[in-house]
Amino acid sequence: MVEEVDLDEPAEGEVMVRVSACGICHSDISFIEGAWGGALPAVYGHEVAGVVTAVGGGVEKVKPGSEVVVTLVRSCGQCFYCLRGEVTQCEGKFAIDERGPIRLPDGRPVKQGLRVAGFAEYVTVHASQVVPVAPGMPPESACLLACAVVTGVGAVRNTAQVPAGASVAVIGVGGVGLNSVQGAALAGARQVIAVDISDSRLESARLFGATHVVNSKQHDAAEAVKGLTEGRGADYTFISAGSPAAIELGLAMSRRAGAVVIVGITATGVTVPVDPGELADSGRRVLGSKMGSVHPDADIPALVEQYRSGRLKLDELVTARFPLDRINEAIDTAAHGQGIRTVIVF
Ligand SMILES: [Zn+2]
Ligand SMILES: [Zn+2]
Repeated sequence: MVEEVDLDEPAEGEVMVRVSACGICHSDISFIEGAWGGALPAVYGHEVAGVVTAVGGGVEKVKPGSEVVVTLVRSCGQCFYCLRGEVTQCEGKFAIDERGPIRLPDGRPVKQGLRVAGFAEYVTVHASQVVPVAPGMPPESACLLACAVVTGVGAVRNTAQVPAGASVAVIGVGGVGLNSVQGAALAGARQVIAVDISDSRLESARLFGATHVVNSKQHDAAEAVKGLTEGRGADYTFISAGSPAAIELGLAMSRRAGAVVIVGITATGVTVPVDPGELADSGRRVLGSKMGSVHPDADIPALVEQYRSGRLKLDELVTARFPLDRINEAIDTAAHGQGIRTVIVF
């Protein structure tokens, strides 16, 4: 439902951005479906590219007119985690969270979903959430850097630190998983095995660097991955599908002393049976990866550079574009897994 709301002008340390494009991420759909709870009414959308229209006091990294990507990673720069570069775990307190920048015309608060609320013409966010990008970059491609790309590529580069020559399996090759595929290919992985239930997504995975594809509806994917790795299993397994079955499958296709990286976030309260004795004996590592352990100010400019030099694919990720007034149609398209990324364009 598209409605008029009131949005705060940026206060100290905040930035207002006119949204040019906002991708639809599976996390938006999970929130819309209530998988993680949360207050209503809310505005979702957290994969934004746009142009800065106003800045609050003390903001120096951007000025009105700067082209930026807006991420959900709000970081204070001063807490225990920020000082260690683990900004996705920032525990700082923010005035913008306390007051809430969005209200209905009658004054009732509207939740700023995922700290962005990007399915809107404008957003007001903390300055740590904006990263300048090269002027003239297509916004519908740039916006994907805010979530899908940093989450998928970052899981490979930052969380797992996949070395050249590794064997990599990726379960679920939607917007995030395809980026783990291309991250693994860019890291020089020897094998990049894409696993999904959709042949069309697996076809896309080949374009993004998969050396092998396995349809897990038609084949025992764990056996297939072992068959491709001399019976051992993959060195690194990335699970972008947020389901318990996908996590069990990931554990089953990981080699001894390999790493299983949980990228897709399952619904609150979901558990998976794990044999801890087997886990210890096998020396297998299970790693959680929030937003690709991204450090936006360092990682996004590096990704922009790789895009501009033709090594990182972004344009190919955008398979549908909708105006804001057709957002329900756009969300249906994304929720049914059609194409790779659906983007709202302004
Ligand atoms: Zn997302
Ligand atoms: Zn912090």
